[in-house]
Amino acid sequence: MKAVDLHTHTNVSDGYLTPLELLEQAHLAGIELLSITDHDTTAAYRHLDWANLVHLQLIAGVEFSTQWRSTGVHVLGLNVGLDSDVLQFATTFQSDARALRATRIAEKLEKIGVPDPMAGALRFAGDAAIGRPHFARHMVECGFVKDLSAAFKKHLGAGKIGDIKQHWASMQQIIDWIRDSGGIAVLAHPGKYGLTRTKRLALIDEFQLLGGRGLEVISGAQDPELTATLAATASAKGLLASCGSDFHEPKRPWASLGMKLDLPPQCRPIWDAW
Ligand code: AMP
Ligand code: MN
Ligand code: MN
Ligand code: MN
Repeated sequence: MKAVDLHTHTNVSDGYLTPLELLEQAHLAGIELLSITDHDTTAAYRHLDWANLVHLQLIAGVEFSTQWRSTGVHVLGLNVGLDSDVLQFATTFQSDARALRATRIAEKLEKIGVPDPMAGALRFAGDAAIGRPHFARHMVECGFVKDLSAAFKKHLGAGKIGDIKQHWASMQQIIDWIRDSGGIAVLAHPGKYGLTRTKRLALIDEFQLLGGRGLEVISGAQDPELTATLAATASAKGLLASCGSDFHEPKRPWASLGMKLDLPPQCRPIWDAW
């Protein structure tokens, strides 16, 4: 299989590299087919000159936040039309939702004693799509927690005080937006929602019923058993298979550029659809 990574982040959301640095690193890592999928924004693509992309094939992408029942869920839009009015509307809607959510998160964190959470998170976010990782970095910097993982475990992760998710567009809306902007909706990292096997299957079924067409069979370094299960599910249900590192920064070896993400042979790779 060619070297493919269809899930990466830059510093226009919660990644650490600029879009240009990411392209450069991806090329050095030997990636042939890449998508930049920042959280709820396609701003990275404004920084790139498509004409200069000789080394690798780039697919326009985005990772939308939504919810299913009470679980926060991510849906990738791959091969979306960057100039589409629908996509513009969708990213604007979601970025307004992000801004509103950030205000709510800041209020909650202030109550538990985090000093000046909004200004602190904004110092890390700058113009980027503000998210929980920016609050987490501030909490580490001011000594409120020892590291990012503790920030999520104690205060920002699922079920904690800073986990506020009722602002996003619905899963149906997200899937429609992706389709109407010419893309394919892919359920991101199905193994990372803390769902039981039964619930995960229910999520995948509903996602497909609502028009979702792809499943991220491999997300970074994951249990081979999970890969086998997801590959079997994708082929049984006729879902296109995707794979991505979910790269954010060079310091995370379990989500790095150029890591092996080969899909099991029974999968129908999503890039066959392009
Ligand atoms: P948000 O977009 O604000 O909902 O934040 C979600 C992002 O937080 C994810 O995309 C990850 O990049 C990051 N994240 C989630 N859980 C953790 C964790 N335990 N440690 C560090 N980062 C995390
Ligand atoms: Mn992220
Ligand atoms: Mn995600
Ligand atoms: Mn991601």
